[in-house]
Amino acid sequence: MKMPVLFIGHGSPMNAITDNEWSRGFKALGRALPTPKAILAISAHWWGPGTHLTGNESPDTIHDFGGFPPELFAVQYPAKGAPGLAQRIASMLPRADVSLGWGLDHGTWSVLTHLAPAADVPVLQLSLDQRATPEEHLALGARLAPLREDDVLIIGSGNLTHNLRHAFASWRQGIQATPDWAGRFDAEAQRTLEQHDGQALAKLLDSDDGRLCHPTLEHFMPVLYAIGASDRRDTVTFPITGFDMASLSMRTVQFG
Ligand code: ZN
Repeated sequence: MKMPVLFIGHGSPMNAITDNEWSRGFKALGRALPTPKAILAISAHWWGPGTHLTGNESPDTIHDFGGFPPELFAVQYPAKGAPGLAQRIASMLPRADVSLGWGLDHGTWSVLTHLAPAADVPVLQLSLDQRATPEEHLALGARLAPLREDDVLIIGSGNLTHNLRHAFASWRQGIQATPDWAGRFDAEAQRTLEQHDGQALAKLLDSDDGRLCHPTLEHFMPVLYAIGASDRRDTVTFPITGFDMASLSMRTVQFG
Protein backbone atom coordinates (compact mmCIF):
# COMPACT_ATOMS: atom_id res chain seq x y z
CA MET A 1 0.00 0.00 0.00
CA LYS A 2 1.19 3.47 -0.83
CA MET A 3 1.61 6.20 1.77
CA PRO A 4 -0.82 9.08 1.46
CA VAL A 5 0.54 12.50 0.49
CA LEU A 6 -0.41 15.62 2.42
CA PHE A 7 -0.51 19.34 1.99
CA ILE A 8 -1.03 21.06 5.31
CA GLY A 9 -2.08 24.66 5.89
CA HIS A 10 0.17 25.49 8.84
CA GLY A 11 -0.97 29.04 9.64
CA SER A 12 0.45 30.80 12.69
CA PRO A 13 3.47 29.33 14.49
CA MET A 14 1.36 29.71 17.65
CA ASN A 15 -0.65 26.67 16.54
CA ALA A 16 2.29 24.65 17.87
CA ILE A 17 1.41 25.57 21.46
CA THR A 18 -2.28 26.46 21.21
CA ASP A 19 -5.25 24.17 21.61
CA ASN A 20 -7.53 25.31 18.78
CA GLU A 21 -9.43 23.86 15.85
CA TRP A 22 -6.25 23.77 13.73
CA SER A 23 -4.02 21.99 16.24
CA ARG A 24 -6.83 19.56 17.04
CA GLY A 25 -7.18 18.97 13.31
CA PHE A 26 -3.44 18.18 12.97
CA LYS A 27 -3.71 15.73 15.89
CA ALA A 28 -6.74 13.94 14.45
CA LEU A 29 -5.07 13.72 11.05
CA GLY A 30 -1.96 12.17 12.59
CA ARG A 31 -4.01 9.54 14.42
CA ALA A 32 -5.74 8.53 11.18
CA LEU A 33 -2.53 8.04 9.16
CA PRO A 34 -0.50 4.85 8.80
CA THR A 35 2.89 5.03 10.54
CA PRO A 36 5.53 6.11 8.04
CA LYS A 37 9.17 5.03 7.93
CA ALA A 38 10.23 8.64 7.43
CA ILE A 39 8.66 12.05 6.84
CA LEU A 40 9.79 14.33 4.01
CA ALA A 41 8.57 17.89 4.60
CA ILE A 42 8.55 20.61 1.96
CA SER A 43 8.09 23.75 4.02
CA ALA A 44 7.32 27.26 2.75
CA HIS A 45 9.97 28.51 5.16
CA TRP A 46 12.98 26.96 3.44
CA TRP A 47 12.88 29.22 0.39
CA GLY A 48 16.04 30.29 -1.35
CA PRO A 49 18.36 29.50 -4.22
CA GLY A 50 18.74 25.84 -5.13
CA THR A 51 17.23 22.52 -4.12
CA HIS A 52 18.65 21.07 -0.92
CA LEU A 53 17.87 18.22 1.47
CA THR A 54 18.65 18.25 5.16
CA GLY A 55 21.36 15.68 5.82
CA ASN A 56 21.62 16.13 9.57
CA GLU A 57 21.64 13.08 11.87
CA SER A 58 19.78 15.15 14.49
CA PRO A 59 18.26 18.23 12.84
CA ASP A 60 17.94 21.36 14.98
CA THR A 61 14.53 22.80 15.74
CA ILE A 62 14.82 26.21 14.04
CA HIS A 63 12.78 29.07 15.54
CA ASP A 64 12.64 31.06 12.34
CA PHE A 65 10.44 33.96 13.46
CA GLY A 66 10.40 36.93 15.82
CA GLY A 67 7.91 38.58 18.14
CA PHE A 68 6.44 35.43 19.67
CA PRO A 69 6.37 34.40 23.35
CA PRO A 70 9.23 32.48 24.99
CA GLU A 71 7.11 29.30 25.20
CA LEU A 72 7.21 29.09 21.42
CA PHE A 73 10.99 29.51 21.34
CA ALA A 74 11.23 26.71 23.90
CA VAL A 75 9.54 24.14 21.65
CA GLN A 76 11.85 21.38 20.53
CA TYR A 77 10.97 18.65 18.05
CA PRO A 78 13.69 16.06 18.62
CA ALA A 79 13.13 13.73 15.64
CA LYS A 80 16.18 12.14 14.08
CA GLY A 81 17.16 12.94 10.52
CA ALA A 82 17.65 10.45 7.70
CA PRO A 83 20.98 11.23 5.96
CA GLY A 84 20.91 8.07 3.83
CA LEU A 85 17.43 8.85 2.57
CA ALA A 86 18.49 12.46 1.92
CA GLN A 87 21.25 11.19 -0.38
CA ARG A 88 18.82 8.91 -2.16
CA ILE A 89 16.26 11.68 -2.72
CA ALA A 90 18.98 14.05 -3.94
CA SER A 91 19.84 11.44 -6.58
CA MET A 92 16.19 11.34 -7.70
CA LEU A 93 16.13 15.10 -8.43
CA PRO A 94 18.06 17.21 -10.94
CA ARG A 95 20.61 19.55 -9.32
CA ALA A 96 19.76 18.71 -5.71
CA ASP A 97 22.29 18.38 -2.92
CA VAL A 98 22.44 17.47 0.74
CA SER A 99 23.01 20.31 3.20
CA LEU A 100 23.88 20.51 6.89
CA GLY A 101 22.96 24.20 6.99
CA TRP A 102 19.30 23.85 7.90
CA GLY A 103 17.20 21.74 10.26
CA LEU A 104 13.48 21.66 10.93
CA ASP A 105 11.77 25.04 10.54
CA HIS A 106 8.41 25.97 12.00
CA GLY A 107 6.55 25.06 8.81
CA THR A 108 7.49 21.51 9.74
CA TRP A 109 7.65 21.30 13.52
CA SER A 110 4.61 23.46 14.35
CA VAL A 111 2.55 20.79 12.54
CA LEU A 112 4.50 17.64 13.46
CA THR A 113 4.39 18.44 17.14
CA HIS A 114 0.67 17.54 16.83
CA LEU A 115 0.67 15.18 13.86
CA ALA A 116 3.53 12.97 15.08
CA PRO A 117 3.92 13.98 18.74
CA ALA A 118 6.23 11.11 19.73
CA ALA A 119 8.89 12.46 17.32
CA ASP A 120 10.03 8.86 16.79
CA VAL A 121 9.89 8.93 12.98
CA PRO A 122 12.92 10.40 11.16
CA VAL A 123 12.21 13.73 9.45
CA LEU A 124 13.99 15.50 6.63
CA GLN A 125 13.23 18.64 4.67
CA LEU A 126 13.47 19.57 1.02
CA SER A 127 14.03 23.24 0.19
CA LEU A 128 12.09 25.31 -2.33
CA ASP A 129 14.17 26.85 -5.10
CA GLN A 130 12.91 30.42 -5.36
CA ARG A 131 14.05 30.60 -8.98
CA ALA A 132 11.91 27.65 -10.11
CA THR A 133 8.58 28.16 -11.87
CA PRO A 134 5.37 26.63 -10.46
CA GLU A 135 5.55 24.03 -13.25
CA GLU A 136 9.09 23.12 -12.23
CA HIS A 137 8.00 22.66 -8.61
CA LEU A 138 5.19 20.43 -9.85
CA ALA A 139 7.67 18.31 -11.82
CA LEU A 140 9.94 17.97 -8.78
CA GLY A 141 6.96 16.72 -6.79
CA ALA A 142 6.26 14.07 -9.43
CA ARG A 143 9.81 12.75 -9.04
CA LEU A 144 9.16 12.17 -5.35
CA ALA A 145 6.19 9.86 -6.02
CA PRO A 146 8.16 6.56 -5.77
CA LEU A 147 8.98 7.36 -2.14
CA ARG A 148 5.37 6.60 -1.25
CA GLU A 149 6.00 2.92 -2.03
CA ASP A 150 8.73 2.97 0.61
CA ASP A 151 6.46 4.31 3.33
CA VAL A 152 7.80 7.86 3.21
CA LEU A 153 5.14 10.39 4.16
CA ILE A 154 5.48 13.47 1.92
CA ILE A 155 4.08 16.64 3.48
CA GLY A 156 3.90 20.00 1.74
CA SER A 157 3.46 22.71 4.37
CA GLY A 158 2.25 26.18 3.40
CA ASN A 159 -1.13 27.89 3.03
CA LEU A 160 -3.43 27.97 0.01
CA THR A 161 -3.99 31.70 0.59
CA HIS A 162 -1.36 33.79 2.37
CA ASN A 163 -1.67 37.57 2.34
CA LEU A 164 -0.21 38.33 5.76
CA ARG A 165 -0.76 42.07 5.48
CA HIS A 166 -4.48 41.47 5.06
CA ALA A 167 -4.56 38.72 7.71
CA PHE A 168 -2.89 40.88 10.38
CA ALA A 169 -5.00 43.94 9.53
CA SER A 170 -8.15 41.83 9.88
CA TRP A 171 -6.94 40.36 13.15
CA ARG A 172 -6.13 43.82 14.61
CA GLN A 173 -9.53 45.15 13.58
CA GLY A 174 -11.41 42.07 14.76
CA ILE A 175 -12.68 41.34 11.24
CA GLN A 176 -13.51 37.68 10.64
CA ALA A 177 -15.31 37.79 7.29
CA THR A 178 -13.32 36.08 4.53
CA PRO A 179 -12.82 38.42 1.55
CA ASP A 180 -14.22 37.27 -1.80
CA TRP A 181 -10.80 36.95 -3.46
CA ALA A 182 -9.57 34.54 -0.79
CA GLY A 183 -12.77 32.48 -0.85
CA ARG A 184 -12.72 32.26 -4.64
CA PHE A 185 -9.05 31.27 -4.81
CA ASP A 186 -9.47 28.61 -2.12
CA ALA A 187 -12.51 27.20 -3.95
CA GLU A 188 -10.68 27.16 -7.29
CA ALA A 189 -7.74 25.40 -5.66
CA GLN A 190 -10.14 22.84 -4.21
CA ARG A 191 -11.62 22.22 -7.65
CA THR A 192 -8.25 21.67 -9.33
CA LEU A 193 -7.09 19.41 -6.49
CA GLU A 194 -10.24 17.28 -6.77
CA GLN A 195 -9.61 16.98 -10.50
CA HIS A 196 -5.93 16.04 -9.99
CA ASP A 197 -5.11 18.95 -12.30
CA GLY A 198 -1.70 20.13 -11.19
CA GLN A 199 -1.16 22.28 -14.26
CA ALA A 200 -4.39 24.20 -13.62
CA LEU A 201 -3.48 24.55 -9.94
CA ALA A 202 -0.06 25.97 -10.89
CA LYS A 203 -1.71 28.51 -13.21
CA LEU A 204 -3.98 29.88 -10.48
CA LEU A 205 -1.15 32.13 -9.29
CA ASP A 206 -1.33 34.01 -12.57
CA SER A 207 -4.63 35.82 -11.88
CA ASP A 208 -5.81 38.87 -9.92
CA ASP A 209 -6.98 36.60 -7.09
CA GLY A 210 -3.69 34.72 -7.21
CA ARG A 211 -1.66 37.90 -6.87
CA LEU A 212 -3.79 39.08 -3.94
CA CYS A 213 -3.61 35.70 -2.19
CA HIS A 214 0.14 35.30 -2.71
CA PRO A 215 2.07 38.60 -2.68
CA THR A 216 5.03 36.27 -2.18
CA LEU A 217 4.96 32.75 -3.57
CA GLU A 218 6.59 30.50 -0.99
CA HIS A 219 3.41 29.42 0.85
CA PHE A 220 1.77 28.24 -2.35
CA MET A 221 4.59 26.15 -3.83
CA PRO A 222 4.42 23.23 -1.34
CA VAL A 223 0.96 22.21 -2.57
CA LEU A 224 2.49 21.63 -6.02
CA TYR A 225 4.79 18.98 -4.52
CA ALA A 226 1.81 17.25 -2.93
CA ILE A 227 -0.28 17.12 -6.10
CA GLY A 228 2.85 16.29 -8.11
CA ALA A 229 3.52 13.22 -5.95
CA SER A 230 -0.11 12.09 -6.16
CA ASP A 231 -1.74 10.09 -8.91
CA ARG A 232 -5.21 9.89 -10.38
CA ARG A 233 -6.16 6.80 -8.40
CA ASP A 234 -5.70 8.63 -5.09
CA THR A 235 -8.82 9.73 -3.31
CA VAL A 236 -8.72 13.47 -2.53
CA THR A 237 -10.01 14.61 0.84
CA PHE A 238 -9.79 17.80 2.87
CA PRO A 239 -9.36 16.84 6.55
CA ILE A 240 -9.18 20.51 7.60
CA THR A 241 -10.88 23.48 5.94
CA GLY A 242 -11.65 27.07 6.88
CA PHE A 243 -9.88 30.40 7.30
CA ASP A 244 -7.84 31.83 10.15
CA MET A 245 -7.44 35.62 10.53
CA ALA A 246 -10.16 36.14 7.88
CA SER A 247 -8.09 35.45 4.78
CA LEU A 248 -5.61 32.68 5.64
CA SER A 249 -6.86 29.37 4.21
CA MET A 250 -6.09 26.47 6.52
CA ARG A 251 -7.25 23.92 3.96
CA THR A 252 -5.38 20.65 4.30
CA VAL A 253 -5.33 18.12 1.47
CA GLN A 254 -4.85 14.36 1.63
CA PHE A 255 -4.19 12.24 -1.45
CA GLY A 256 -4.68 8.53 -0.89
ZN1 ZN B 1 4.28 29.93 7.21
